[in-house]
Amino acid sequence: VPAFVPDHILEQIRQSADIVDVIHSYVPLKRAGANFRALCPFHKEKTPSFNVHPARQIWHCFGCGAGGDVFKFLMMYENIDFPTAVRRLAERAGVPLEFETSAEERATRSLKDELFALHEAVASHFHALLLRDPSAEIARDYLKKRGITSQTCKKFRIGFSPQGWDGLFQWAKTKNLSAELLEKAGLVLKSDKPDAQNSHYDRFRGRLMFSICDEQGRVVGFSGRILTDEKDQPKYVNSPETPIFQKSKVLFGLDKAKRAILDAKFAVVCEGQLDMISCFESGIENVVAPQGTALTEQHGQILKRYVDEVVLAFDSDEAGQNAAARSVEALLPSNLVVRVAVLPRGEDPDSLIRKEGAAAMRKLIDEAKPYFDFFLDRLSKERGKMQIAAAAAEYIRKIPNAVLRADHIRVVSERLHLPESAIAEEFHKSQRRPRMAAADANDAKKSAILHVPPAEKFLLELLLHAEPPQFSRFCRVIQLDWVTDETVKSLVSRILELETTKKWRGAEPFLHELDNEAAALVTELLMKPTVKGEFAAQADDCVRQLQRRFLQRQIEDRKHRLRRADMPLEEALKLQQQILDLRRDLEDISPPLNSR
Ligand SMILES: [Zn+2]
Repeated sequence: VPAFVPDHILEQIRQSADIVDVIHSYVPLKRAGANFRALCPFHKEKTPSFNVHPARQIWHCFGCGAGGDVFKFLMMYENIDFPTAVRRLAERAGVPLEFETSAEERATRSLKDELFALHEAVASHFHALLLRDPSAEIARDYLKKRGITSQTCKKFRIGFSPQGWDGLFQWAKTKNLSAELLEKAGLVLKSDKPDAQNSHYDRFRGRLMFSICDEQGRVVGFSGRILTDEKDQPKYVNSPETPIFQKSKVLFGLDKAKRAILDAKFAVVCEGQLDMISCFESGIENVVAPQGTALTEQHGQILKRYVDEVVLAFDSDEAGQNAAARSVEALLPSNLVVRVAVLPRGEDPDSLIRKEGAAAMRKLIDEAKPYFDFFLDRLSKERGKMQIAAAAAEYIRKIPNAVLRADHIRVVSERLHLPESAIAEEFHKSQRRPRMAAADANDAKKSAILHVPPAEKFLLELLLHAEPPQFSRFCRVIQLDWVTDETVKSLVSRILELETTKKWRGAEPFLHELDNEAAALVTELLMKPTVKGEFAAQADDCVRQLQRRFLQRQIEDRKHRLRRADMPLEEALKLQQQILDLRRDLEDISPPLNSR
């Protein structure tokens, strides 16, 4: 992945990859006047407040405040970094990325490409074996019994790895695939014996093969299920972690389910691949499964990009319920609301659908209760009121979102017939932990954006909407000291710098440099119609307002210092003189007409 992309290449990509086309391939856009509109993919809503402005090539959501350019959209939607977004869009738009990258980066990139190509070829090979190899009879029988059709096998790229020792390794040789690459992919292992004949052996032997795909549907690994009941063999064997496969970040089936997940506004999470496939094929398409692990926090982050709510469909046995509890722990930091569908004893989604049909499964999902109810139920069996409150507070502590936390506090107070203040107190007791502090700092940062002083927001608005001759004149009078908000300050400073170096071409080309909050602020202001009234008068008003606020802050600062008890007389006199001077300066600036 390139670390540095020249501006003119970025510009070329931006122009070739039309923002409306790109965003429309993720969320269906509808024309609304000069803009396009959709339900926001970054927050839950019923009426569309997500806007795409084709002329400016920006987007902004008036619901959650997120915004940016086409790169930002991809970064947030796909949860990828900037270089990856650039590469993705460059590929899409057919813009070649031929510029200096380090040899190391080129090597990583080409290894990944080789691994993708290898997995693709191997998935096809396994699939062909499933269809045609005589020894795959056992797998075909198994699938038939499970009611999995050949179309499903094709769609999910299900395959078969025959018994034996090095079938895949020998096949790969005929395709000129190197042993080194196969080893890096974890598909073959080096034999202990330095015997030239059997130098390598296959990881997957005599197994039903599930292809694991990334969000774009590229095969990144395999999971092999045993088909006989040999007791000394693990039921599942999975690909090891490779540069393209990290199991904590892969959700099985997401590439196929993502559209349905967005439409349903919640995701169903099953335990195994077969459960996922059964649900999907029965019409419950908003379903995924973690890949050979419990759900991780990364899984939570991925799901949160699509939805706010997750329904866990885990077995009702002890192991299944423990897995559900662990999964909830992992999902809480992403502010996901978790419900639990309780399956009848001894059933999993796959067996339930086969016995009672998809309607039965759908009913369980619809009736799934919030996990928090289960949690409180379990506590109530063994503990007293205050102990439950303390344990619940400990749970609530893990939810970063303040609104969700308040909801949970209300539920506990209702169930325990305790005042909310008592629960809140428990909550604050358990709150003094580093994690919570970090989350609160985050909240504070977000709300800071909402509390940008209006005059400073107006300054930014004027700068963003100014025409070239006014713009340069306006830039020359602005002083950074006038601005208190850190986000606005860094934006204004960047704009002034671009003006000085004659590189200012409007805000759009530098949106991709900004963090999410700054980009959101800029797109919000860009989406507004151009400034009403005469620019010069507006600018003059804005400057006076900022100057006055600046002087008032200076005065307050001197006053504050004067209150110090140990202030030497000489120093105090100096400060008082400064206050007088500052007051005179302030009187010289008449208050603006439209006070903000
Ligand atoms: Zn939104």
